[in-house]
Amino acid sequence: MAQAMRPKMSPKQLTVVGNELITPNMIRLTLGGEGSQHFSQESAGQYVKFLFTADGSTDISTLPEGQKPMMRTFTVSGYQPDASTITIDVAKHELAELDGVITPDIGGYASRWAVKAQVGDVISLVGPRPIQAMPVDAEHFLLVADMTAQTALQGKLALLPDNAKGHVVLDVPTKADLQPLALSESVELVVNISSESSLSNCVKALELNTENLAVWCACEFSEMRTIRSYITSDKAVDRKMCYFSSYWKHGVTEDGHKVLKREDSMALEEQVAKAK
Ligand SMILES: Cc1cc2nc3c(=O)[nH]c(=O)nc-3n(C[C@H](O)[C@H](O)[C@H](O)COP(=O)(O)OP(=O)(O)OC[C@H]3O[C@@H](n4cnc5c(N)ncnc54)[C@H](O)[C@@H]3O)c2cc1C
Repeated sequence: MAQAMRPKMSPKQLTVVGNELITPNMIRLTLGGEGSQHFSQESAGQYVKFLFTADGSTDISTLPEGQKPMMRTFTVSGYQPDASTITIDVAKHELAELDGVITPDIGGYASRWAVKAQVGDVISLVGPRPIQAMPVDAEHFLLVADMTAQTALQGKLALLPDNAKGHVVLDVPTKADLQPLALSESVELVVNISSESSLSNCVKALELNTENLAVWCACEFSEMRTIRSYITSDKAVDRKMCYFSSYWKHGVTEDGHKVLKREDSMALEEQVAKAK
């Protein structure tokens, strides 16, 4: 049967109008210009893909015929209607300040560009596109994120009912990397410092009420898998009430991570089918 085709996403060009370090490890890029007319308030929390050539240039017009750009995924953290700009918060990881030649094997396209981006620089991107929704008619909630998903987490928190009960677990390199979160009174924030313990161990240490529990988790690949297995197997939470997504993987660029994600999702589907 013919599959419904996704509409092709055409690149938009945005111009850097601001670049500031908002916490020790988070860069906030403000982007405006012609391409920003495709964004609105609804874009906050949606994702875009920055485009680069294989040698790290943002001038994708130099791409050889038929060669696809390198893509890096980020969440829109805000939209400023008066200025018609968007903001994107980029976690500064260990490759960010690496000098020298950039190659598809080493990667670091987005973080290395973000560290150096200056007002007037132009970036091409595709999107915005929405991320999957989480069930909000649950009684209890568990939301888990690391630095890369802090923006997405803020978007999900805004959708929770006022009387939401549960936990938010956020992994950050330092306490100073924590951004303000809108939490209702009965939601407890647990901060995990990356160098002190793993995010999954932090989740396992929680006293979870699994009755009518909805789970949203976005973080590093291996951590996500450990948390997914703990929640759906050990804690037997209904998979339909859960959303798990890996945003990056240790030692692997986004291109390699994409392949592993696909394999993981196929293996999971098989596992679920066998269990039926
Ligand atoms: C839907 C979605 C939304 C996302 N939103 C955001 C966002 O808003 N902000 C954000 O910062 N990230 C976000 N990410 C994660 C981001 O796409 C990845 O971190 C991406 O790999 C960064 O690209 P890069 O070119 O800097 O590094 P890559 O070339 O992809 O990787 C190079 C090396 O850096 C390592 N690396 C990559 N990211 C990290 C990291 N965060 N910490 C430590 N090491 C890392 C890799 O393991 C690899 O060894 C999102 C991902 C998804 C799927």
